[in-house]
Amino acid sequence: MPLASALSASLPSWLLDELDDLPAVLSTAEDRMDLVNALADRNWREGSGGPFAAIVVDTATGALVSAGVNVVLASGLSSMHAEVTTLSLAQTALGRWDLGAGGADLELVVNWRPCVMCYGSTMWSGVRSLVVAGEGPLLEEITGFDEGPVVADWAEQFESRGIRVSIGTRHDEAVAVFRAYGDSDSIVYNARGAVE
Ligand SMILES: [Zn+2]
Repeated sequence: MPLASALSASLPSWLLDELDDLPAVLSTAEDRMDLVNALADRNWREGSGGPFAAIVVDTATGALVSAGVNVVLASGLSSMHAEVTTLSLAQTALGRWDLGAGGADLELVVNWRPCVMCYGSTMWSGVRSLVVAGEGPLLEEITGFDEGPVVADWAEQFESRGIRVSIGTRHDEAVAVFRAYGDSDSIVYNARGAVE
């Protein structure tokens, strides 16, 4: 079998169709999380991946820099969680690996605390701010996803690296998306079980 020489992932077609219609500016944390929750809910219903979405915005202006969803199933790549997809799209759009270069103050908004993989991806991305709808074991209890061994002081570790953390925006709305997913018969696709 020849060795692979490149990798690629794409947003699902339903989101590509909506990309030009997403709001150019999202002024408040609630506006931003409302979009994230809506994309997350649509993503699992469309069968593109898990009930997760994220956006990157410019903190100062609210300008939308990128929007993404979990595309693990569609891409066949286990790392394509919403955070990795969205951060990579922002880096692609801006043409640089460091989203904080030149004093840029970019924010990642996601509908739960990042899993252990996305924790590192967020930390290395150059974003200066992280906004999540919630944290803790509730997500795993509802959906069956394994978030991995995230450290207890995960938020403090971000803060100590100059990345601000905000927890709790639109919490109940995020949980409602997870409950709808958990009540469905969708595939939980982590690598250690439950995949059919
Ligand atoms: Zn993740």
